[in-house]
Amino acid sequence: MEINKLYSLPKLPYAFDALKPYISEEQLKLHYQKHHQAYVNGANAVLEKLDKARKDNTDLDMKATLKELSFHIGGYRLHNRFWENLAPAGKGGGGTPKGELAKAIDAEFGKFDRFKKEFSQTASSVEGSGWAVLTFCEKTQRPLILQLEKHNVNIIPGFAILMVLDVWEHAYYLDYKNDRAKFIESFWNIVNWDMVSNRFDLLKK
Ligand code: MN
Repeated sequence: MEINKLYSLPKLPYAFDALKPYISEEQLKLHYQKHHQAYVNGANAVLEKLDKARKDNTDLDMKATLKELSFHIGGYRLHNRFWENLAPAGKGGGGTPKGELAKAIDAEFGKFDRFKKEFSQTASSVEGSGWAVLTFCEKTQRPLILQLEKHNVNIIPGFAILMVLDVWEHAYYLDYKNDRAKFIESFWNIVNWDMVSNRFDLLKK
């Protein structure tokens, strides 16, 4: 099998208008075609810059270059996960987690509503651009919430990313203007809990 040594935009698992009314067609298109694509392009540009410098045996500003690489690959991967953990409302989207994930969330947070509140507060309090992330520590077997700034700050290396919510303004501004809280509330109607639960089950194996 030939390995593609550059990144490419993954296919969306639903139509552009499938997440209405919580995310409009225009908002989803812009987010996916322009913003997600920009991280793909950004990551590839850095990889090509690295390739070229090695080929020409020239020096790079490693600090700046690798910071840029982390930012763009972080953005690329988080968006992949974001599209996957969404589904049309009532057709796979919304409701509450089931199975082992539901048990783990109850054990950690007491009940689902407490998790939902903490996750929403995490998303609403991101300073500037960033993400709320549900993650899992295999060592302690605890589901944990992270608040990522940009795409790559506050990451805990090795922690699996189960579910993400993008709260960059580009994720919601067309639909919600500056009302991030309303976008966060809408998010719960389109969470693909089956996908998040499957990911959790794979980790627990
Ligand atoms: Mn985004």
